[in-house]
Amino acid sequence: MHTPLCRHAEGEPTEYAAQAARVGLTEIGFTEHAPMPGDDFDDWRMLERDLDLYIEKIDQAAVENPSVTVRKSLEIDFVPGYEEWMRDLAKRCKWDYLIVSVHYLGGKWSFDHPNHRDSWNGRDINAAWAEYYELLRQSAALGVFDIIGHCDLIKVFGDKPSADCAAMWRPFLEEVKRQDIAIEINTNGLNKPCGEMYPSPALLEMAAKIGVGLTFGSDAHRPGRVGEQFDQAIALAKRSGFTHHRRFAGGQYESVPF
Ligand SMILES: [Zn+2]
Ligand SMILES: [Zn+2]
Repeated sequence: MHTPLCRHAEGEPTEYAAQAARVGLTEIGFTEHAPMPGDDFDDWRMLERDLDLYIEKIDQAAVENPSVTVRKSLEIDFVPGYEEWMRDLAKRCKWDYLIVSVHYLGGKWSFDHPNHRDSWNGRDINAAWAEYYELLRQSAALGVFDIIGHCDLIKVFGDKPSADCAAMWRPFLEEVKRQDIAIEINTNGLNKPCGEMYPSPALLEMAAKIGVGLTFGSDAHRPGRVGEQFDQAIALAKRSGFTHHRRFAGGQYESVPF
């Protein structure tokens, strides 16, 4: 879940936590878009100077909503060349877990930006997908993160490659397994042009066979989306062959059966 500190979400953390209690969730986690060096990397993430405020707001949400366990995390962008920055972010706080996401290809192309659909014009879809999964593989291999965020975000506008997706997914998922980390079922894809959760059923089936960990996320950018479509997400996980999901605290996970 996000907060207004990223400049494209609404509602204070305590409102998200209150909504979680309302919909019957007992545990939630905040994963704000983590800062990048400098304030002008882009305009859709938390600024470095707001990190302490972010942590304060999460602690306040926990105090004000005692029926909900509130976890502290970040959604860190994987951009090659910033590995030291990522490692440093991981040490800024005793995070309960860390999500890593790829939102940039070629260093600068923010391929999922809702206002920049036309940035895909003239792109080679197969090459974009191949680069995306190679970056996801590298993000897993870094050994810093617990969860790979929305691991087919590349489909956001509905573009499908003609190339064999399984051949792109496998090296990525095998790295996730080697590192003993997790992927997530992220329900926010339902609100995007692709119209389905991240990732696709076929990717999930391969992930379950390989034996990677699984978590659930609504990727809520407003309180009303907290826990949205989780019943559907759990059904999808079961259909795909998963039997457990992971819970995190203090950087450690436990596997919980459905
Ligand atoms: Zn966002
Ligand atoms: Zn994201």
